[in-house]
Amino acid sequence: MEKQLKILSIGAHPDDADTYSGGLLSKLRDAGWLVRLLSVTDGSAGTYHMDESAEELKLKRRSEAAASGRLLGGRYDVLDYPDGRLEVTLAAREHLIRYIRRFRPDVIITNRPNDYHADHRNVSLLVQDVSFLLTVPHICADTPYLTHTPAILFWADDFKKPYAHIADVVVPVSDARVDFKVKIACCHECQYFDWMHWPDHVERIAWPREKQIADLAERYHRAGRAQCEEQKEKLAEKYGAEAEKIRNLETYEISEYGGVIPEEFLRVAECIE
Ligand SMILES: [Zn+2]
Repeated sequence: MEKQLKILSIGAHPDDADTYSGGLLSKLRDAGWLVRLLSVTDGSAGTYHMDESAEELKLKRRSEAAASGRLLGGRYDVLDYPDGRLEVTLAAREHLIRYIRRFRPDVIITNRPNDYHADHRNVSLLVQDVSFLLTVPHICADTPYLTHTPAILFWADDFKKPYAHIADVVVPVSDARVDFKVKIACCHECQYFDWMHWPDHVERIAWPREKQIADLAERYHRAGRAQCEEQKEKLAEKYGAEAEKIRNLETYEISEYGGVIPEEFLRVAECIE
């Protein structure tokens, strides 16, 4: 029997590992990959409701993440590091080393280290810090070491300094899959229908749920098209006339610290659907 390939998506918050990369993750899931999602923090700061306790929100966000994980066919783990206060510590590094060694992914995806949110930056730093150490036998010797470093890729963001995201891997995504990404986002009710609108678009919180979902879908499709437009030349070069068929796109940047990208990953990720 062929070995099942595995992807681990590591985010800072319980709605990061899935919503930044739902196209790629669902393509891999459909191709038989095992998908695992991880939030390093507990999500307990994602609200403006001062009467909501951190404990209540933690529980809510865990169950919302689990619902998204079910859609993606994989477990969504949420660690206990406090939201908004994640630090790059030795303890967090070793926690992550043990976690990754137990799952043994072929590919890891995460944030870039350039990001507005300290938790996002720190998750990215933690992943990069563990990359080589995963294979070092004397580090966390209680958990069997890996014999090779998994490939590591960063999902896209809009930050330009010190350098903008590089689209090393292009992932064509169908319209139906963008609708699926909207479904994933909608699992995170307390975020996408409430907290995300704070503080710049608070008027949207009172919108009927259907209107909020339609607005989200419109923004997702628009973003997918914008990515195609932005990568137009690259797509034409790579796919020739077939590039015309690409409706939406996700792009990923390769981390220099990761291992070799499996061919099977590129075959599935880069196929036009
Ligand atoms: Zn986040």
